[in-house]
Amino acid sequence: MYCIMKGHNFMYDIQTVTQIFFPNEGFIKVDSPVLSGLTCESSLNGQACEGKLHKDGVLAQKFSFPVSDDIHETRRRLMISVFLACKAYTGLKTPWGALAGIRPSKMARLLLSQGLNSQEIVERYKSGYCASEEKIRLALDVALAEEKILKLQSSNGFSLYIGIPFCPSRCLYCSFTSYPIGANAGRVDAYLDALEKELDAVKSLSKGRRLDSLYIGGGTPTSLDEEQLERLLEGVSSRFDLRAAKEYSVEAGRPDTLTPAKLEILKRHGVGRISINPQTMNEKTLEIIGRGHTAQHMKAAFAMARDAGFCNINADLILGLPGEALVDVAKTFERIKELKPESITVHTLAVKRASKLRETLEEHKLASAEALEEMLAVAQTASREMGMSAYYMYRQKNMLGNFENVGYCLPGRESLYNVFIMEETQTVWAAGAGAVTKLVEKPGLIERAFNVKSLDDYINRIDEMIKRKEDKFYAQASPKT
Ligand code: SF4
Repeated sequence: MYCIMKGHNFMYDIQTVTQIFFPNEGFIKVDSPVLSGLTCESSLNGQACEGKLHKDGVLAQKFSFPVSDDIHETRRRLMISVFLACKAYTGLKTPWGALAGIRPSKMARLLLSQGLNSQEIVERYKSGYCASEEKIRLALDVALAEEKILKLQSSNGFSLYIGIPFCPSRCLYCSFTSYPIGANAGRVDAYLDALEKELDAVKSLSKGRRLDSLYIGGGTPTSLDEEQLERLLEGVSSRFDLRAAKEYSVEAGRPDTLTPAKLEILKRHGVGRISINPQTMNEKTLEIIGRGHTAQHMKAAFAMARDAGFCNINADLILGLPGEALVDVAKTFERIKELKPESITVHTLAVKRASKLRETLEEHKLASAEALEEMLAVAQTASREMGMSAYYMYRQKNMLGNFENVGYCLPGRESLYNVFIMEETQTVWAAGAGAVTKLVEKPGLIERAFNVKSLDDYINRIDEMIKRKEDKFYAQASPKT
């Protein structure tokens, strides 16, 4: 998409808004509307914040608001003028309105802390961002749940994330750092060597602080064999004091990777929460998305985990998977109810740039925004019927229908880590390929240290990954001049 920016520097915000309607479209700056294609024009002149959309050089839509004395409000008006022009042009439904690039629950928490009541927040979102009342209420529910969870953080606490980038196969929609374990079995030990080195560094950098929550994800950590899994968990418990940790989660993503012996290892090392993820309980879809397991594997894995003593199990689901209709989603929830998980995380399918799905998009039939809305309603009703309520939520780029991902759980079964990482209120040390450490000096003041994603690079450049962390940590710790 082409763009013209006049009188301001909010190009990133304007682009974020246009991507609600034109996902994956970058901006090419031009001086005047192009004769072939769409040009977005955002201008701030003495009196007005204007948003225009030109089609093939001809003005198609235009919205305008007066300039405010407050620069933040002026920025919002610039965004909303472009939002309204795009909405009028495309006719798309936008449940979250112009709320993009900010987590709605975070904003709701901020407004609550400023003393606004629920009704005032609803009005603010509706008039200011054209969001629907239903979505605003969801953001508010989540904000209130998060408030309680965030109080569980220790004053000197931190969380730890460990990434294991191996899976039995690659899912169609996956954009994570993940390598097929079969073809990479010979590199697992070298990976664990590097990881342990990085954990040594994290141990020393986090000295004197209390480990609040620990999450081992990826990838599918349980795709490691029993010996490797034992080594991984022993490597963690020998370095960190887990007795004080309020939560220890492991992603057991693929049900077919679980065995009684692996579950025993997890249990013995103090893992309290596991996530066994079917994404759907429909066999045909499981095949299409390349999960390599069946709904029966899911039932067996749940039974095995219960036998091993796990009483806090999450199940991840995705709405809008290729070929799925409302009836398939309803069937999935009926079968999930039988498993009685303590929490579910309901994602809306996102078509990520690095996924196989993106490459083969024309081969798949994806759900419309209307169908997704109905699927989300089924998910919400099912979660209520299971006695769960929403406790965390986030939105991503390129989600079908511009919807959201929501975590629902039974009372007291919230994933603390999910909220801590999302709300960025405490430091999260992260180790492993593709992991991102977030050093939070105080809320809003965050330094990030990125690890390389490639398996080989991670193994070969582990000292550099450690140095990146140390540099950020010491730079943040030293007084600023
Ligand atoms: S299980 Fe998760 S990490 Fe592994 S390939 Fe599938 S989506 Fe990616």
